[in-house]
Amino acid sequence: MKETTTRRIGLEFGDPPAKSGKQDLRRRNTLLLLHLIQSNGPSSQAELARRSGLSPAAVCGILQPLIRTRILIEEGKSSAGPGRRASILAFNPHAAITAGICIDLEECQVALVDLSGRVLGQTAAHYPRYAEPDEVVELAAGCLAEIEKNNSLPRSAIVGAGVAIPGLINSRTGLVNVAANLGWRNVQLRALLERRLGVPVRVEHLGRAKAQAEALWGKGRNHRNFVCLEIGSGIGAGIVVHGRILRGAKGMGGEVGHMPIDPAGPACACGLRGCWEAFCAGPAIRKRMAQKLEALAGSPGALNPMSSLRDLNAAFERNDAVAIEVIEESARHLARGLAGLIWNFDPAFVLLTGPVVNDCPSLVAAVKQVMNTLGGAARSFEVPLIMETEHAATGVVAASAPVSLRFLEDYAAGREEPPVVSGRPRVGVVHA
Ligand SMILES: [Zn+2]
Repeated sequence: MKETTTRRIGLEFGDPPAKSGKQDLRRRNTLLLLHLIQSNGPSSQAELARRSGLSPAAVCGILQPLIRTRILIEEGKSSAGPGRRASILAFNPHAAITAGICIDLEECQVALVDLSGRVLGQTAAHYPRYAEPDEVVELAAGCLAEIEKNNSLPRSAIVGAGVAIPGLINSRTGLVNVAANLGWRNVQLRALLERRLGVPVRVEHLGRAKAQAEALWGKGRNHRNFVCLEIGSGIGAGIVVHGRILRGAKGMGGEVGHMPIDPAGPACACGLRGCWEAFCAGPAIRKRMAQKLEALAGSPGALNPMSSLRDLNAAFERNDAVAIEVIEESARHLARGLAGLIWNFDPAFVLLTGPVVNDCPSLVAAVKQVMNTLGGAARSFEVPLIMETEHAATGVVAASAPVSLRFLEDYAAGREEPPVVSGRPRVGVVHA
């Protein structure tokens, strides 16, 4: 990676603080110490002072609320040096439990997840295509209640629920503007779920949720500028700029699938024409394949109009002429949009995720080749295109990540000092 690793990283993630100054400084320093413990393992206060460059008194002051609320716990004593042995502090992933809810076209997955991204319990419910939002919310609530029961956890132990859903989402308000594949329009999903679950809820599209999972637990931990691109039935991105997820004025930052590429291009679910995803999301690639097969008027080959992306990938590997054309054309469209993102955001790397990436690795290889040929005098486009980590790949874990991030940020900013109940904080999340 070309970007220099900084020490104030991944966790610095929510919206910018309303007030700068002393509180913001405390927040940044708290996140720095949390990150040092997460990166280097259990540490003494003296080690943290040395690594952070903060004074021992400042470190002590910052750590006290984290110890009181059991986000940090004592894990033995240091053996080095003379005098009183110092406490070794470790990050406690059970200081907060979050729920992750991943809503897809005919299934919702629900899990309880700890602060390290570990799944404590998971279940799923199925529903018919185009189910009503109320029905899906009810099923998700039933799943959550079942996992809580199996884990003997009361609802009060859960600090919030994160939801990932495909569509145009306002992540500030939790409004689903359009989820075309679910048949939902203007659904106040956050309000519906908060009423039903009784905990704070955050709603994101998968790209933004995965970017936050990567920032907290994965490949984004040491980077302040990267893009996480989800390619499935549409295209969405989580764009991290200077250590913060880009949300924009209307909470819709990262809806890159609707970048207009060609006004004369194919119709898009958003109502416009020629959006990026209308050229190279999963349905667009399959449509291209069907059109090319139609033009061949039934000549025998490895593919048929109903072939899946996996079939397309397998046919490409067997040097099928149609598959090669489809993959190479799709790769050129993908590369064009990627070049736009790289010009705009100058990321250290782009994480590629989603069903199209998983089912069609030959497309990823073809995109890399095209990107390598795009460089000119002004810049190279050889930005690493890398695959997601396990945490982000698990939809429910990615869905929960924004809640864990906000929980840690709230403590770091001093916005939350909840009562400790049986060693576990009761409430923790405040909305933007
Ligand atoms: Zn569009």
